[in-house]
Amino acid sequence: MTRPPTTRFAPSPTGYLHLGHAYSALFTFAMARETGGRFLLRIEDIDTSRIKADYEDAIFEDLAWLGLEWEEPVRRQSDHFDEYQKALDGLLEQGFLYPCFCSRRDIRAEILNAGAAPHDTPGQEGPLYPGTCRHLSDSERQGRHDENTPFALRLDSAKAFDAALGLTGSLTWSDAERGGIEADLSRLGDVVLGRKETPASYHLAVTLDDHLQGVTLVTRGEDLFSSTHVHRVLQALLGLDTPNYHHHRLLTGDDGERFAKRDKSLTIRSLRDAGKTPEEVREMAGFGVDNGDPA
Ligand code: GLU
Repeated sequence: MTRPPTTRFAPSPTGYLHLGHAYSALFTFAMARETGGRFLLRIEDIDTSRIKADYEDAIFEDLAWLGLEWEEPVRRQSDHFDEYQKALDGLLEQGFLYPCFCSRRDIRAEILNAGAAPHDTPGQEGPLYPGTCRHLSDSERQGRHDENTPFALRLDSAKAFDAALGLTGSLTWSDAERGGIEADLSRLGDVVLGRKETPASYHLAVTLDDHLQGVTLVTRGEDLFSSTHVHRVLQALLGLDTPNYHHHRLLTGDDGERFAKRDKSLTIRSLRDAGKTPEEVREMAGFGVDNGDPA
């Protein structure tokens, strides 16, 4: 008999939760409840430039209002930078990371964004980092460090993939919607795993935390599917467990567009302020009494 799963909902306090979050949280909660599994909540707040304490308070309030119950203590990522630093240092020592000094605007933006989950439109992940700094010589690198040029640490994806495969023999993972998947790092390329001010990135923190919290079923939107390829390789390199995955559909509005934090009218709190009941909001997210089964 398979054991009931340990699940988690892992929002970032960078805005108020919207209907899309409600769907994801209710989906995860239902998965745990229906099987007698566990439901954890994690606050993903490593992106210190964008988080607000207000938003974190609102996460607890809105989820409780929706009727969700989670286990305490809640893990807050900003309390664990030392753990991420240790993992990052290990990857660096083993030669899987290289410093990237590129400062063109788009690359700078990518580095700044490394703390946030790269929600993408499936199939439109955007241009990959061309690998410019991967080819720098040791003395060129030293020169940049001597000049104090800011840098980010990128995963040398080809090298990391080969080493991970060598360690584990196979790099597969299982998704409830799509079945067995072979990891493929060419989708996101040489992602940023850390930078000077923040020894972590979404990819590193989420992979470590899921392992440390004993999460056995990761549920999240299909816009994070590409990220899971990176997470699978990190699991192999860092000796972490590989959970099962269920990337669920994204809830969209009447216009077919997915909900985003900018759609203020559809935040859980604005719906509540407009007089909706928790039951009505659950219904809007597709989890009413009659349709509580995740579609
Ligand atoms: N914290 C991420 C977000 O806000 C979700 C991470 C995950 O579920 O893997 O989108």
